[in-house]
Amino acid sequence: MKYKDGVIVSMTKMKDNQPVHLSASEKCMNAMLIADELSMKIAGKEVVITSLLDGVHSKNSLHYTGNAFDLRVWIYTEKQRKALLTQLRKKLGIDYDVVDESDHLHIEWDPL
Ligand SMILES: [Zn+2]
Repeated sequence: MKYKDGVIVSMTKMKDNQPVHLSASEKCMNAMLIADELSMKIAGKEVVITSLLDGVHSKNSLHYTGNAFDLRVWIYTEKQRKALLTQLRKKLGIDYDVVDESDHLHIEWDPL
C-alpha cells in the first residue's frame, strides 16, 4: 500500500475547546487492506491512497471522521479498474459503499 504525498492519516482538531483526535477507523483500515490485496491480485500493483482525512469533500463526508478513503485509478487499465470495483463491492459487502468518482474510487464504511 502506498500513500500520495500529503495525505493526512491522523490529526487533532479542536471541538468545543477540546482536542479531538482523528485517524482512519479500523473499518476503514480493513477496507484499505482488502483493496490492496485485490489490487495486487488483479493488477500486480499496490493501491495508492490519495485521500483520507484531507481534501475537500461534501459537508457530511465520512472522510472527516476517518471512515472513507480514495484510491488512485489511472494506474489501472479499464479492465483492471472494473474488476477492482466489482470485486471490492463483493468482498466488502453491504456495510461499505464503493463509488466510482471517475478520477478516483471512493470507499466508505457506511452501515445501514
Ligand atoms: Zn472520497
